[in-house]
Amino acid sequence: MAEAGILTQQATGEYLDAYLDRWRKAGADRDATAATMAALAQATARISALIRLGPLAGALGAETGGANADGDSQKKLDVLANEAVLHALEQAPVAYFASEEEDEIQSLRSDGAVAVAVDPLDGSSNIDANASIGTIFSVFPVSPAGATASFFRPGSEQVAAGYAIYGPHTALVFTLDEGVDIFVLDPDGRYRRADLRIAIPKASREYAINASNYRYWREPIRDFVDDLIAGAEGPRGKDFNMRWLASLVGDTHRIMQRGGVFLYPADARPGYERGRLRLIYEAAPIARLAERAGGGATDGQKRILEKIPSELHERTPLVFGSADKVARVARYYADPSHQRARSPLFGERGLFRD
Ligand code: MN
Ligand code: MN
Repeated sequence: MAEAGILTQQATGEYLDAYLDRWRKAGADRDATAATMAALAQATARISALIRLGPLAGALGAETGGANADGDSQKKLDVLANEAVLHALEQAPVAYFASEEEDEIQSLRSDGAVAVAVDPLDGSSNIDANASIGTIFSVFPVSPAGATASFFRPGSEQVAAGYAIYGPHTALVFTLDEGVDIFVLDPDGRYRRADLRIAIPKASREYAINASNYRYWREPIRDFVDDLIAGAEGPRGKDFNMRWLASLVGDTHRIMQRGGVFLYPADARPGYERGRLRLIYEAAPIARLAERAGGGATDGQKRILEKIPSELHERTPLVFGSADKVARVARYYADPSHQRARSPLFGERGLFRD
């Protein structure tokens, strides 16, 4: 019977521990990064188990009454996820820990070899909706100059970056020194490698942006989106679809699989002048993954991985996804023709046609 077939389906794929062990032995100075990846995997498996219980674990989406360093209200799951990651990293060779939920950098082991920054729970407004949420992480080699210097550096210096997505299945997506791999949590709570090596598809007609902020956007973003919405009748000459999950991890995972572009631009509202996402533990690791998967990531104009933060919780606009689409957004900023346009003569802006 069909049901029996489903119930007897067995998980397959190499275990993460074996993969990390193989990777560790294949190069020099990889022990700390491999051990840290294993600790992050363990933490995300714990967080996944908690999320799977949903409301049976209490009101995970309830406000704690506290706020993080950036003034966002903390939910119970934000705090529990932060504790789970910190606890796991305390058992790993980690010198410094930075988190969306911690005002300051935490010093862990004085002999630690890496510094780890995390968004322990991304997309927390989705908790009660039972929609995809995640954990984002960024790993740097520790800087001899100390805690701040270990994080205030270009994202291109990350030795590992990735996220866990807690969706219909839990997946761990990360990059070490080359491509991007996907591991999926099996029913026994162990990650197994999925038979996928991610390359962001180039051909996609999907874009993701919170369009309710349209009136606050700057002209290049409005023009870019106007041209998408104009579809087959506009300068792009074809129709597009909008997708918006309100969870960076959720939108990232879709783009990793299906291509497209994500935009969280700066806008005119107080507190949004530099966008909303954080450079160190959101934009930088996502940018690393996007580039390693053949895509691109900018703040609209400048490559994210070259930006050097000067504050722990610094924000940045973020545009990432299929490389040609990210480059196209930059052309809307760079080319003044978008200013004279906004005319019904879309054909004048042939530059923006494919
Ligand atoms: Mn987040
Ligand atoms: Mn968060």
